[in-house]
Amino acid sequence: MTTFLDKKIIVSGATRGIGKGISRAFLEGGGTVIGLYGGNHQAADDFAAEHSNFKDNFSLHKCDVTDENAVNTLFAEIEAKYDTIDILVNNAGIRRDALVAMMDSKNWQDVIDTNLSGTFLLSRQAVMLMLKQKYGRIINITSPMAHLGFPGQANYAASKAGQIGFAKTLAREVARKKITVNCVSPGFIATDLLDGLTDEQLKAYKKLVPMRRFGKVEEVADAVLYLASDRASYITGAVLEVNGGL
Ligand code: NDP
Repeated sequence: MTTFLDKKIIVSGATRGIGKGISRAFLEGGGTVIGLYGGNHQAADDFAAEHSNFKDNFSLHKCDVTDENAVNTLFAEIEAKYDTIDILVNNAGIRRDALVAMMDSKNWQDVIDTNLSGTFLLSRQAVMLMLKQKYGRIINITSPMAHLGFPGQANYAASKAGQIGFAKTLAREVARKKITVNCVSPGFIATDLLDGLTDEQLKAYKKLVPMRRFGKVEEVADAVLYLASDRASYITGAVLEVNGGL
């Protein structure tokens, strides 16, 4: 499977969890991955070691997606090196759960800045490059929490619902330039993001899933690769749910 040969792919949050699975799948598909991470150098080193057989096909960059200057500087470097990019996966994300009455403003803002504003900052730069070649794929990793409304996740839900509205709008803006913009919405996937949940909560969440299991990063990556492929050329503004029936 070399569907992504010659494709340049940016993945945010590339070195852990779902982003790591997505990056690996693109590498296996022959793509060149430009992986961004927030600051966990150990995870980046581990990713590099685990994927040394692809060492000529990926680069890793510490780039805080909330930092406009850092994002713009990185894209200038990418443009100088590659001229353009083909695919952007907005995957970097955090949660800082608290009931609204007790949520401090920093936890609200950090989640919105990372999950939603990060999506905007990367997409704005990516679209400018994609317009040059009149081709592109942008995929936001959103969440069922965008519409389920779990107590304690108002900031996360707002950011994830925002990613969907953003994608639907951008999809219309760039449709005629052969750039598609979609979302993948994974259900519960066992990654570091679920750290901090009690065994009781994990058990209760599993019970909510009709398939009675959490998903695998590979199952999310498959959906992302489909939307990123030429086979999905007529799909834009859509949300593909990968959640075991949640
Ligand atoms: P993880 O916590 O395992 O990984 C998060 C990744 O995001 C890390 O690579 C991290 O970088 C990166 N990141 C966080 N903040 C920033 C930042 N400011 N700038 C750049 N990178 C940053 O999360 P998951 O893999 O579970 O989640 C990935 C995406 O999937 C998120 O958007 C999440 O909301 C979504 N999702 C996850 C679900 C799940 O059940 N796991 C369900 C539904 C959606 P670093 O390693 O440097 O810290």
